[in-house]
Amino acid sequence: MKDQTTIKLKEIGLKVTPQRQAILKLLEGNQTHPSAERIYSEILRQFPGISFATVYNTLSKLVEAGEIQELDIDPNKKRFDPCIKSHYHFYCKVCGKVFDIVFDNPFPLEIKRIDGHRVDAIQLNLKGVCKECKRKR
Ligand SMILES: [Zn+2]
Ligand SMILES: [Zn+2]
Repeated sequence: MKDQTTIKLKEIGLKVTPQRQAILKLLEGNQTHPSAERIYSEILRQFPGISFATVYNTLSKLVEAGEIQELDIDPNKKRFDPCIKSHYHFYCKVCGKVFDIVFDNPFPLEIKRIDGHRVDAIQLNLKGVCKECKRKR
């Protein structure tokens, strides 16, 4: 049976393995912006013995293929986002959570060119203390 994960992996040119399918499934619709370490610990539960390198390489390939995006918002580790549309993020310095942010009058995230430069990626990162952590203080 062919599901979405099989089709995606084939498109990217990756061998279809249950481990890779599990990584894609885990990321699908995931709004927690997990780190590679986080994804690894989840996958490890389903596939004891899988190496971190396997998970990390798969994530890199998915980023390269434009299936997911890599965020430079967390100072300690890369975070991954299955939503590939340009959007804003807010990083909480206390709990490390990354939130999607929507503005009414957004900065143009779709610009391809500015002052003669070619724009390949736009990341707008807001940092601070999230409302939950603020309440706890
Ligand atoms: Zn927080
Ligand atoms: Zn996001």
